[in-house]
Amino acid sequence: MSFDSLGLSEPLLRAVIEQGYTTPTPIQSQAIPAVLNGGDLLAGAQTGTGKTAGFTLPILQRLSETPAPAAGAKRPVRALILTPTRELAAQVEESVRTYGKYLKLKSTVMFGGVGINPQIDALRRGVDIVVATPGRLLDHMQQKTIDLSKLEILVLDEADRMLDMGFIHDIKRVLAKLPPKRQNLLFSATFSDEIKTLADSLLDKPALIEVARRNSTVEAIAQKIHPVDRDKKRELLTHLIRQNNWFQVLVFSRTKHGANRLAEQLTKDGISALAIHGNKSQSARTRALAEFKDNTLQVLVATDIAARGIDIDQLPHVVNFDLPNVPEDYVHRIGRTGRAGATGEAVSLVCVDEHQLLKDIERLIKRPIPQEVIAGFEPDPTQKPEPILRRSQGGGGARQGAPRQGAPKQANGGGRGPAKPAHGGNGGGGGNGSRSPKPVAAKTGGNGAAPRKPEGARPAGALLGGKPRSEGGGAGRRDTPRTGQRGR
Ligand code: AMP
Repeated sequence: MSFDSLGLSEPLLRAVIEQGYTTPTPIQSQAIPAVLNGGDLLAGAQTGTGKTAGFTLPILQRLSETPAPAAGAKRPVRALILTPTRELAAQVEESVRTYGKYLKLKSTVMFGGVGINPQIDALRRGVDIVVATPGRLLDHMQQKTIDLSKLEILVLDEADRMLDMGFIHDIKRVLAKLPPKRQNLLFSATFSDEIKTLADSLLDKPALIEVARRNSTVEAIAQKIHPVDRDKKRELLTHLIRQNNWFQVLVFSRTKHGANRLAEQLTKDGISALAIHGNKSQSARTRALAEFKDNTLQVLVATDIAARGIDIDQLPHVVNFDLPNVPEDYVHRIGRTGRAGATGEAVSLVCVDEHQLLKDIERLIKRPIPQEVIAGFEPDPTQKPEPILRRSQGGGGARQGAPRQGAPKQANGGGRGPAKPAHGGNGGGGGNGSRSPKPVAAKTGGNGAAPRKPEGARPAGALLGGKPRSEGGGAGRRDTPRTGQRGR
């Protein structure tokens, strides 16, 4: 199948060809005709499947088919794309611009953590397509700086993540104010009961599309475990990066504090590294991503949630410095290397504390992961497992209506820690601290498999087997916590 056969117009095909895409991905070949038809759509697709082009291209086409308003008249917002994170919003809007470059449509992106005035100016000038995170969009709606009365198409992108991050009430408030007659597209990687309920209330006889989950593309990724002692991990990582001359290494850390510390240590080892997580300011995150993308930054250390939305083609190396607490996150993490057909390599540094986590992952992906002990880093067989402390990953710090009691407060690394940036200086994060409730540490003792559910954070029906998946850094990453203390 080629893009020509999907019914896309010439200016869109030209933009697609310029991107070097020759064949539509499965989600694109199904979603594009469905969206062009004008009906609602419920699509199961993860990041990396090409879903963004899957909805962006047909939206651009539909909007371009009807004439732009007469000169002088302001363009009404006709399409609204909601995303869970700022990074994803920025990337989706970049895609809108890329694919729409030969059309006359205008777009803008809006999220919290940055000034609202430029967004208001852009809206005043008139845009056809708005890509937004829910919190900031609500701000605009409340301030009446956005008029959505002419909205024709609504997209909820990564809807499961949006619910997971506690955006359901925000979404409902947005939906309540939209004109009823519109085309609705819902994209989600998973289909929990919560998503089904949302889909039922939102979609009218939707076309259903589900493309292969990432789990089934795990085969495309070379995976390896390096057993190592917990206090030798950093040294081993430096060794691997140097020895193999790795560039563009995405390293996952379980905690924000750990991410900061690791980036600092790598920098001391002479390897350029920055950390991104929910406590970093928007500008620090944007800059780190840009440097990572253009290869001036060798290593990006990220927490699970912060890494979502990083959209880099053919990311060559993913390293799990810590194994994730939730096995599905392993699949999300390593999937970053095998995007849209490209192969990649994922290595995990596993110490004695993480053996149970490794077992859970291998059970999920239904295969053992090959192990290789690196000479000089042989694990000490007498070392005893220790419980994994989930510092600064508390979850729910910003979740709405969930005042947490009893848990110790901890201003984590981004808030006040040294968190020296690896290069250039970015203020050590914490840029959002003034407007977000402080994340709370969920310290857990016991068996290492720390419970993911922060107390009071979330009702039953959470995704992926009922486990909430916020990193608590949601405090910073969420556009706007609906806690009544929206400091703007
Ligand atoms: P997405 O799932 O939308 O985040 O897209 C994942 C990556 O696949 C992006 O970096 C796109 O640039 C890339 N991509 C999207 N469509 C295609 C295609 N048809 N062929 C090759 N790469 C693609």
